[in-house]
Amino acid sequence: STDKEKSNSVAKIRVAVRKRPLNKKEIAKREEDIISIRTNSLVVHETKLKVDLTEYMEKHEFVFDAVLDEGVSNDEVYRETVEPIVPAIFQRTKATCFAYGQTGSGKTYTMEPLPLKASQDIFRLMHYTYRNQGFHLFVSFFEIYGGKLFDLLGEKKKLCMREDGKQQVCIVGLQEFKVSNVETIKELIEKGSASRSTGMTGANEESSRSHAILQLVIKKTIEGKESKPPKVVGKLSFIDLAGSERGADTYDNDKQTRIEGAEINKSLLALKECIRALDNDQVHIPFRGSKLTEVLRDSFIGNSKTVMISCISPSSSSCEHTLNTLRYADRVK
Ligand code: ADP
Ligand code: MG
Repeated sequence: STDKEKSNSVAKIRVAVRKRPLNKKEIAKREEDIISIRTNSLVVHETKLKVDLTEYMEKHEFVFDAVLDEGVSNDEVYRETVEPIVPAIFQRTKATCFAYGQTGSGKTYTMEPLPLKASQDIFRLMHYTYRNQGFHLFVSFFEIYGGKLFDLLGEKKKLCMREDGKQQVCIVGLQEFKVSNVETIKELIEKGSASRSTGMTGANEESSRSHAILQLVIKKTIEGKESKPPKVVGKLSFIDLAGSERGADTYDNDKQTRIEGAEINKSLLALKECIRALDNDQVHIPFRGSKLTEVLRDSFIGNSKTVMISCISPSSSSCEHTLNTLRYADRVK
């Protein structure tokens, strides 16, 4: 079949769950792995207490499009999630891949290699299938922190967003780099990741409060009009979301943390609502709910593909957060 047929046959929304292995700290504390996985489903074994304080087990079963256990490599994650949607971005599709989950569940570990693997495939398509057809690849990388946009490849400059008449999102001043090999993309990702919000409390602590958005944009120069700027054909966005537990940070007494928590909560709820609306082919998509969904507006209309990778920790101490993550993913499905 042609690439076009292939990309059309891929589901519009796909939800995968990835479980990470127990880490050294959890093993040292003798924490148990409470997640068992079958082909497309998983069971969370929750230990609860009766009134007389004896323990009993409650099982929660969930079914998803893909369930990836701790033995699954990053290569396999790519094959199960992003690979099938790559050809579609040459066919006017805007595709988005999200990593959702609590801090420490493996979002960044899962997300970081994906744009590189995708760009390998993009260059292959540009060099073979679409040889000499005027396609170019551009990269940008920014974050949303406390409801504001910052350019991760441009000295963390604060950015503004506006919408042109054709419902295209335009982030004013966002640096976009034209790239022609994977090595350059790797350097840009490393540079951008290093400038993600880091504070006194450590890198993971602060980066867990921001959404990082890396975009691969396919543009095309029109034959005979080579002097004109190339036009956007498709987009592939990779979004390393803020830690899902941060949305509940509202009990914190620190004012800044409270504002951030409320913003994260708002954006994750708005995201869920937008994906659900998309799935139901609703005409009205509630973009306005948050900065995150406003920025992604053009990726939710027209031809779009969405992949959500929900990351979970296997340990008993994360049970509550894991159940929250799985319930969120279940609602998106
Ligand atoms: P998050 O971005 O969700 O806060 P990280 O991606 O930083 O979480 O992962 C937390 C830690 O767990 C890191 O040290 C990472 O290397 C490790 N880790 C996460 N997922 C896996 C996995 N599938 N296999 C091995 N190590 C993992
Ligand atoms: Mg992270």
